[in-house]
Parts: sequence; structure tokens; C-alpha cells
Amino acid sequence: MSERKSIVITGGGAGIGRASALHFHGLGWCVAALDKDGDALAELAGLLPASDCLTLECDVGVEDEVEQAFAAIGDWLDDAPLTCLVNNAGIADPYAGPLEDLALDKWQAWIDASLTGAFLCSRAAVKLLRRAEGASIVNISSTRAVMSEPESFAYAAAKGGVDALTHAMAVSLGPDIRVNAIRPGWIETRDWQKEAEREDPNHRAKDREQHPAGRVGRPQDIAEAIEYLAGAGFVTGQHVNVDGGMTVKMIYEH
Ligand code: NAD
Repeated sequence: MSERKSIVITGGGAGIGRASALHFHGLGWCVAALDKDGDALAELAGLLPASDCLTLECDVGVEDEVEQAFAAIGDWLDDAPLTCLVNNAGIADPYAGPLEDLALDKWQAWIDASLTGAFLCSRAAVKLLRRAEGASIVNISSTRAVMSEPESFAYAAAKGGVDALTHAMAVSLGPDIRVNAIRPGWIETRDWQKEAEREDPNHRAKDREQHPAGRVGRPQDIAEAIEYLAGAGFVTGQHVNVDGGMTVKMIYEH
């Protein structure tokens, strides 16, 4: 491993994680992607040169799997530092159905993937991040941490937890490690899935008009925000909405 910058992205096999892995590789960084979906990871590995990229099958909500993955990342880095960890893994579909029918294991799946995963991966990454100048963690939260559609209890609670974990880690891990969160709004990922699940995006005019920016978000929009936060030395403990302005637009039926 050279002295190049390096990044670990969880949920790197598809969607925002895949786009971010390709974005950072394009910037010249070495990229490690963790995902529980081996097929999606294999596709990502085919898009990146093996010399710059490590893919590891790992469920970020399972302690042993995270510990093993970060041991492998430590070997891959050799003595080089880890520059950035992106806690991106999560169950993208927020809908849980009626509260009275929500089973505990279903609730737990959202909490494990987003919140427990961010805790376990951050804990495992700290000693690798402390070797770097200007290290940081970027947690992928959601605008749903602060607003909801009906029947999205566990997703919203998990993302609220990610926001709180962000400021708690920022005040505890600084000044060595900065910690920030991105709250994506509506990000179109259908064209960033593994081949078997890929679909063409199809947005209505009212989907675009819901956004002051005039369009639905793209995974690259989040990758660019991660790049900003990874380099923003005086920014820590923040939650950055990357939503095309959707959450500041009131929508009334006239
Ligand atoms: P996606 O489904 O396209 O990709 C998520 C990836 O995470 C998948 O490859 C999946 O296999 C992996 N994953 C899920 N659970 C995992 C686990 N326990 N361990 C390891 N890997 C796991 O989803 P996406 O839309 O790219 O979402 C990425 C992140 O962004 C999620 O945290 C999601 O909540 C958040 N987010 C997405 C949107 C959006 O509109 N797409 C909006 C707000 C927040």
C-alpha cells in the first residue's frame, strides 16, 4: 500500500456506495468496499483495478464480521493510514407497514444495518484513522432523520440515531478524527444496482418540481458531498442536507 489516500465505504456494492467507490477511485484514492451482497461486490471489483481496490463481503450489523473485515483492511493498508470511513450501508426501503404489525426482528434489521453498523465500523476503524492527517468519518443519514412519511418508524429512528452518533463521535474523536453526516434526500439509484436489478430511472414532472434544484438526486451528488466533507478541515459534528432543496419547499395542494 502506497501513501495514497484511502477510503472504506460500507454498502459499497450498489447505489450511493458504488458511485462513491468509483468517484474516489477517480480521484486517485485506494478504495475498500464492504457489502453483504457478494454479487454486487464482484461487479464493483470488475470495474476497478485490483491493485487499488479491496472488496469484502460483510454484514455491518454483525460484530464478528466487522472485526474480520477491518483486520483484512489493516493488512491491506499495511502501515499506511486510513483517510476516511463512510458508513453508508443501510436498507434503502423505509416502509415498515402499520406500527401494530411491526415485528421486532424487522425493526432490528433497519437499526442493525444503519446505526449498529455505523458504531461497529467506526469502532473498528478508529485505530487505522488515527494514523492519518485529516482523517474523517462520514455517516450517511437521511432527511428522514428529521421528517417522515407514514409507516417508516425503524428507518427514521435508525437515521435519527446516526445523526446523534455523529455529534457524539465528533466531540469524542476530535481533533484527530472529524465526524460528519450527510442527509440525502431523494437519490435515484435504480441505474446503480447490480446488473440483475438495474432499471432505468423514470421521473414525473412533479417529482422534479418537488426539488428547487429542478431534479431528483443522483448518487454522484452524495459522492461529491463526501469528497467535500473528507477535505473540510474545520467542519465536524455537522449534518448536511443534500436534497436539492426538497426539505425547505412547502407543498400545498391549491
Ligand atoms: P442501495 O440499496 O442502492 O445500496 C445499499 C447497499 O448497502 C447495498 O449494496 C446493500 O447490499 C448494502 N447493505 C444493506 N445492508 C447491509 C448490511 N447490513 N451490511 C452490509 N451491506 C449492507 O441503497 P442506497 O439508496 O444507495 O442507500 C445507501 C445509503 O443512503 C443508505 O444508508 C440509505 O439509507 C441512505 N439514503 C438513501 C437515500 C436514497 O434516496 N437513495 C435517501 C436517504 C438516505
